[in-house]
Amino acid sequence: MMIYEIATSARGGLAMTKRKHLFSRDRRILSLCHCEEQGKANGEGLGNFVIARQSRSNPGDSSLCSEQAPQSHNSLITKRLLLRLWRIAMTRFMRMIPIILLFLLSAPETLKADKGMAIRIVPKLLRPGEAFMVVVTPGSSITEVSGEAFGKKLYFVGGEQGYIALSGVDLSVKPGKYPLVIEAGMEKSVRKIRVLKKRFGKEVLHLRPDQVFLSEEDLKRVEKEKQRLDVIWKEELQGRFWDGPFILPVKGKFGSVFGLRRIINDEPRSPHMGQDIKAPEGTPVAACNSGRVVFIDELFFSGKSIIVDHGQGLYSMYFHLSEVLVSQGQEVKRGQVVGRVGATGRAMGPHLHWGVRLQGMRVDPMSLISLPLNSISR
Ligand SMILES: [Zn+2]
Repeated sequence: MMIYEIATSARGGLAMTKRKHLFSRDRRILSLCHCEEQGKANGEGLGNFVIARQSRSNPGDSSLCSEQAPQSHNSLITKRLLLRLWRIAMTRFMRMIPIILLFLLSAPETLKADKGMAIRIVPKLLRPGEAFMVVVTPGSSITEVSGEAFGKKLYFVGGEQGYIALSGVDLSVKPGKYPLVIEAGMEKSVRKIRVLKKRFGKEVLHLRPDQVFLSEEDLKRVEKEKQRLDVIWKEELQGRFWDGPFILPVKGKFGSVFGLRRIINDEPRSPHMGQDIKAPEGTPVAACNSGRVVFIDELFFSGKSIIVDHGQGLYSMYFHLSEVLVSQGQEVKRGQVVGRVGATGRAMGPHLHWGVRLQGMRVDPMSLISLPLNSISR
């Protein structure tokens, strides 16, 4: 048996063995060479194969093999090379089958459902503590659309733009993707809502110890008041009082914003759950939308307070009032005066603390104002 040196390539006429091939340092293929004709011509053949290998000392041997390999032999080599490549491709394809199956099993519902149904989120980019609209334009003429986002029911109402639902992202929601499920007649869609990261500001306050630490009695009072409010947030009217866009309850200078992290005497406290609007004491405070007054009381922190139920789990709060001008259970219209700006409760000056709860979620009331809800009316 003669050992030859070969710088191989499929085009160069060298053989690939059935079993293996090696790669040289410069990535050229070295292989067992099917050189029956070559072997016989040189009297060195052993069976049908001659082992060919690169030999630095005698490069002439390589040309001997490559130049003298017959053409029919080259085509056989090419076929084998192609066959090998085909096998490699098939092996990789087989490995991908489970992934493809998984995709096909999970996707049909979305793909099928998306046919004809258009879904939009307004605004497109969402952050924790923001309200948003889901706008659905069904592919067929249907009369009802339902859905769910962040584990909360979506209440759709027909409007000029299609079917619209008001929803929100709670302040505590981490950035990521969350499912949005929409059903319209026979159509169903499962999509993802993307929540981006939001950096909230920080407010450092230094107060007297008696302003920070509460007595046993005050602590009990605060806890009771919290429980009373928690009961309200859980009540969710199926009907809707709110109608059209939301408005600012009072004109004034903006103070502490929603989500502000407060650090009092070097201790982190609960974030600010509303928008403060500074205005002279006695300035009229209007309802941000139509609703029904469900709570009137003077609370330890919030002072004279009003809570308006706008229906479908949406509540607005008006705190630190100097005067309440509505009564429990009274229905109010958007823009109707409900009280006057004050500094009752724990307030550092006359201002309105305006807050919102949406299906229990803590949402920035300012994010409601920017929503184009003009087309929605009862
Ligand atoms: Zn406030």
